[in-house]
Amino acid sequence: KPSPTEQNLRPILEIKDITKEFEAFTAVNKVNLTLYEGEIFALLGSSGCGKSTLLRMLAGFETPTSGSILLDGEELIGVPPYKRPVNMMFQSYALFPYMTVKQNIAFGLKQEHLPKSQIEERVEKMLHLVHMEDYVDRKPFQLSGGQRQRVALARSLAKEPRVLLLDEPMGALDKKLREQMRLELVDIINSVGVTCLMVTHDQEEAMTMADRIAIMDRGQFVQIGGPREIYENPNCRFCAEFIGSVNLFDCTLISSNATQSLLRADDFTHLIELQHDIDLADGMPLTIALRPEKIYISHEKPEEETNWCHGVVENIAYLGDISIYYVKLKDGRIVTSTLPNVDRFKQGLPTWDDQVYLSWDAESCIALTI
Ligand code: ATP
Repeated sequence: KPSPTEQNLRPILEIKDITKEFEAFTAVNKVNLTLYEGEIFALLGSSGCGKSTLLRMLAGFETPTSGSILLDGEELIGVPPYKRPVNMMFQSYALFPYMTVKQNIAFGLKQEHLPKSQIEERVEKMLHLVHMEDYVDRKPFQLSGGQRQRVALARSLAKEPRVLLLDEPMGALDKKLREQMRLELVDIINSVGVTCLMVTHDQEEAMTMADRIAIMDRGQFVQIGGPREIYENPNCRFCAEFIGSVNLFDCTLISSNATQSLLRADDFTHLIELQHDIDLADGMPLTIALRPEKIYISHEKPEEETNWCHGVVENIAYLGDISIYYVKLKDGRIVTSTLPNVDRFKQGLPTWDDQVYLSWDAESCIALTI
């Protein structure tokens, strides 16, 4: 997808230098973010990195220590949660157990004292949106996990918030249902056009659902970008390792010009040729990241002088769609290479204990300086 600015989307929410300290501990540290109208944005990070605290500040359940949150240009800090045009859907869904599906969806609208006919109309619309028309009179305990999630979503959308906050939206569902619900949730969110900020620690969920992702670490954003950008161009070691799997080689720079460099990997003797558009200074510590699917595996020695190494197949993991080859280099380190299993009928694929050559294209090398 093109970026929000390429799509000419309007900024709707601006978070400026937001910080939250809990006594001596800084949970969120000077975070800046602009959300654009209609986008789905995911906060991704490991446990304790500050994702939920950030979300809770937007909802109004937590007061920032400093910074500002502008929604359509208006400051949100100081506005009580129920008066914010923002709604949060919790991981536990927080449905009222003694209320029916219909009553749950209508709850927030009744609190706003909307006319009865308008409440009826809005509830009907929401029931239709989440395909729950046939379950209006059921109570939450009479619903499946996925149905409960749909009701929770309908309830958070009923008040037509400007921004929808989702805290681990699939957290309560099992793996199979999570996968099914991802696209359904995206469809519903997109059909109403609401801007959505979701928190997850599941990278696959972030990659399939979000237009843009922020990777968070210790209260700060480390990288913001589309799923492909973050995977293909991680800006640091942390992001490269956080998303997908990766082989990392610490290197020493041998020679360099504006677009190409020659490197020696510290733990094996072969040379790495790198294409880049960043300035590399002599002596700069450099790590090369290589995704496993970018590494070819073969019995044949490559003709080139660079971008290959030699090892022994130590293990092969069969994962259905792909197989992961674990290749041990002379110094003992393991490099992984993945092959799609559609190639499995090909003759001469390496097997256990085979001597193999791993090779890659110069443009597959990602240079990391931090
Ligand atoms: P998880 O994925 O486990 O929910 P998270 O990224 O959402 O993690 P937060 O809940 O935002 O993490 O918490 C960030 C940090 O702030 C954690 O170290 C947590 O212990 C701390 N923290 C959160 N709330 C409070 C509080 N009320 N008082 C003190 N520390 C807190």
